[in-house]
Amino acid sequence: MKILITGGAGYIGSHTLIELYNSGYNFIVYDNLLNSSKEAIKRVEKIINKDIIFIEGDIRDTLKLKELFSKYSIDSVIHFAGLKSVAESVSNPLEYYDNNILGTLNLLKVMKEFNCKKIVFSSSATVYGDPATTPILENFPVGGTTNPYGTSKYMIERILEDLYISDNSFKIAILRYFNPVGAHESGALGEDPNGIPNNLMPFIAQTAVGKREYLSVFGSDYDTHDGTGVRDYIHVVDLAYGHVKAIDYLNNSNKIKPLIVNLGTGIGYSVLDVLKAFEKASGKRIPYKIVDRRVGDIAKCYADTSYAKEVLGWKAKKTLAQMCEDSWKWQSNNPDGYGI
Ligand code: NAD
Ligand code: UDP
Repeated sequence: MKILITGGAGYIGSHTLIELYNSGYNFIVYDNLLNSSKEAIKRVEKIINKDIIFIEGDIRDTLKLKELFSKYSIDSVIHFAGLKSVAESVSNPLEYYDNNILGTLNLLKVMKEFNCKKIVFSSSATVYGDPATTPILENFPVGGTTNPYGTSKYMIERILEDLYISDNSFKIAILRYFNPVGAHESGALGEDPNGIPNNLMPFIAQTAVGKREYLSVFGSDYDTHDGTGVRDYIHVVDLAYGHVKAIDYLNNSNKIKPLIVNLGTGIGYSVLDVLKAFEKASGKRIPYKIVDRRVGDIAKCYADTSYAKEVLGWKAKKTLAQMCEDSWKWQSNNPDGYGI
């Protein structure tokens, strides 16, 4: 039996392949390489010393998905595939809804047809919108999203919940990631954003390596310990292991309601905290300028992680220093990412 990993060539997917392999799971990867490179798969193969079954394809391609399910015996899916840029989703909402929503609907229909009823879905803390308080618990209100990307995650959560209501033999885990950062400790695998990074950690890493002149700090007048935005940064390898625990959970439970769980560290760090930690890890000075707030940003977002511990037996272990060290190792070894 195999796990189908959609979007498995991407940043979080590629790290998850290693953790799944280390835990004895078999998988195949399906990715259209829209935001990733085959080189990531090659590097994973080198790390685990094993060939990976990789199929290039789109989750909206029904025929190709059906071929895949006919050829391999797939009993579960980890569904990473999707578009993830907040800014792009605002300027191109139709493309985002098409890829994320239609893609997921298509995947779910094919899964149902082939009686494959276990799915782990990549959701996001963005579904909480601007929370009234922090830390954020799973039962906080959701849906107050401020951009099509976030709305697509919220809609998919609702679709999965409705699917379960219609057929309670589906086993569903919805993982709400906080801010994934860092890279594999080998320095061979990491985040390779297209163009100018939108996210903080890759922008800092590219500034440290000399590709960007300075970091623009978006606002210093938030109600936080130093005025800059606070987030829950989680090492991508910890996050990847969370998927192994989610698959274990689905495999070991009988009929269960959709599991909804936060994956974060529970610690909030500010932009300047991250900047200082990165300077320490890299030994580089990182120039920065305080600029206006970024539209749509919130002051504070960090998880209550007690449910993940209780239900999955999972807790993030890696520190901010390790996140920065591994990010730096990846960035300095691969200043142009996978180079493609
Ligand atoms: P990523 O872009 O690196 O990986 C997504 C992968 O999906 C890419 O390899 C891309 O080529 C592939 N893909 C996109 N559309 C596809 C399609 N229609 N068919 C097949 N493959 C397709 O992103 P990531 O950071 O690894 O994120 C993985 C998932 O986690 C995404 O669903 C994302 O929305 C979600 N998520 C990410 C973050 C984050 O900050 N990185 C936070 C919360 C949630
Ligand atoms: N941020 C920043 N400069 C940047 C990118 C991000 O100051 O170039 C800040 C942003 O305002 C937020 C934090 O860093 O407070 C994390 O931003 P990111 O885009 O990585 O994650 P998200 O806002 O989606 O949680």
